[in-house]
Amino acid sequence: MQKSFLEIGDIKAASGTKCFGSLGAIELADGSTVKIPLMVVRGVKEGPTLLLISAIHGPEIIGVEIIRRVLREEIDPKTLTGSIIALPVANPLAFQQSSYVTPYYDFYDLNRAFPGDLQGTTTARLAGLIWSVVSKSDYVIDIHAVPNPLGYGFTVVRPIGKVRIDDKALNLAKAFGLTITISKQPRIEESGRLPGLQIVASRSGIPSILVEMNGWRSWSKEAADAGVIGVLNVMKYLKMIRGTLQKQQGVVLPRSLQTQMLFANKGGLIHTEISPGASIKAGDVVARIFNVYGELVENIKTPRDGYLCAYPYMENQAVATGDYVALIGEEI
Ligand SMILES: [Zn+2]
Repeated sequence: MQKSFLEIGDIKAASGTKCFGSLGAIELADGSTVKIPLMVVRGVKEGPTLLLISAIHGPEIIGVEIIRRVLREEIDPKTLTGSIIALPVANPLAFQQSSYVTPYYDFYDLNRAFPGDLQGTTTARLAGLIWSVVSKSDYVIDIHAVPNPLGYGFTVVRPIGKVRIDDKALNLAKAFGLTITISKQPRIEESGRLPGLQIVASRSGIPSILVEMNGWRSWSKEAADAGVIGVLNVMKYLKMIRGTLQKQQGVVLPRSLQTQMLFANKGGLIHTEISPGASIKAGDVVARIFNVYGELVENIKTPRDGYLCAYPYMENQAVATGDYVALIGEEI
């Protein structure tokens, strides 16, 4: 029996209970408050604390459904070992307006704001509140979504150069059961992007995986099924629940992929040339850009053999120089 309560936000969860509340709130100009929804499942036996987090980016709604199914339909606190903390809507301001970034004052990407600052700007404060939960967790599954077209979901592993943490994260990804992509690190800072929650948490000693599912503004049962299977598999691997790992139903590549982002150099409309999930050869054109005069201004080619993972151009096929167009993966 876990004797102590798990106290987070306005929740004080006793052993063997499911609790629903909020982590904290942002007050808007009219005085209304927008809360960060929080759910806690406190198992009866001592064990790890797993954080499930989704909708760090407002349009990426699939995680809300995955978390609903796991917490409402799958998990019984009376048989759970350890605890689950879930933040289904990490950025409620962005979620309400289906905005990738916080649609207030700082217009910032919450994923680039960790560990946050409780005295800082709106997004920094959201990040600071969430960080107070991350730092209480032993493992993190951060659920994101890629706009269509996306073939099938995949798990992102971002090694930080600490074997103990990196191995644990890779094992979580293997248990999740989807194709694993290993992001080239530590080049993320070199590319001008701040590290996301996954890296900041891992560097703080908390192994973290990020999953990219099909579920940008709409979600499919297939994607939700894959997410539920994946989360339950991780919990089985961590011995939080009993059972054998379940095989994912969709396309899963047997080898991990080292991923690379491809960016637009020119502005115009993107024409996609490859189906996500299809194999590609070095030199293949994965996308073309036509400028507004109708002129072909760029062929975006893959520098290596591999797979076209996704076209994460934020559902806007009108791109500018430096916009992220395609994610490719090379087998390693
Ligand atoms: Zn995202």
